[in-house]
Amino acid sequence: MSVNNKKIVFIDRDGVINFDSPQYIKNEDEFVFIPGSAEAFGLLKDNGFETIIITNQSVIGRKMVTSEGLEKIFSKMRTGIIESGGRILDIFFCPHVPEDKCGCRKPEPGLLNMAKEKYSVDMSGAYMIGDTAKDMLAAERAGVGRKILVRTGSGVKTLDKIKSGELNTPDYIADDLMAAVKWVISDGTGLI
Ligand SMILES: [Mg+2]
Repeated sequence: MSVNNKKIVFIDRDGVINFDSPQYIKNEDEFVFIPGSAEAFGLLKDNGFETIIITNQSVIGRKMVTSEGLEKIFSKMRTGIIESGGRILDIFFCPHVPEDKCGCRKPEPGLLNMAKEKYSVDMSGAYMIGDTAKDMLAAERAGVGRKILVRTGSGVKTLDKIKSGELNTPDYIADDLMAAVKWVISDGTGLI
């Protein structure tokens, strides 16, 4: 399937769409939307954007969540997003732990490369929205055109890495996913 006529927005999950936890998100009850994040998907859809979730889920490799359990969490996310008028084109997740040294766990670009292959994405015209340095680095390595950091989740900690020069400055820093999406839409069409 080609989505060449559509702009693609890659979005990290934990700390961007839902509140993150140092104890991980292990079941659907622990998946709680950050206010406005489900609605942000509706705004993207209304403006002709497609969204692809790119998420590290080491909870699988750590045996804290089964594949079925992860699907249930994704299902809650999809349902909330559809109820808010949005949609998700696809979800790419890395199940590994860092010790696996895989090519898909962000900051590696593997998941983004898989999405690029599957949907013939023009990466230079695509966006990545995330809350960590891993998100920004993976996007950089995969050639994603615009990188947006949100202040939710680990975002504020990530800002320190930018200030110290450890991480390149993203194209935009947004308070949350909704603010990031508004910037994406204005960048893409000049409407806002
Ligand atoms: Mg995150």
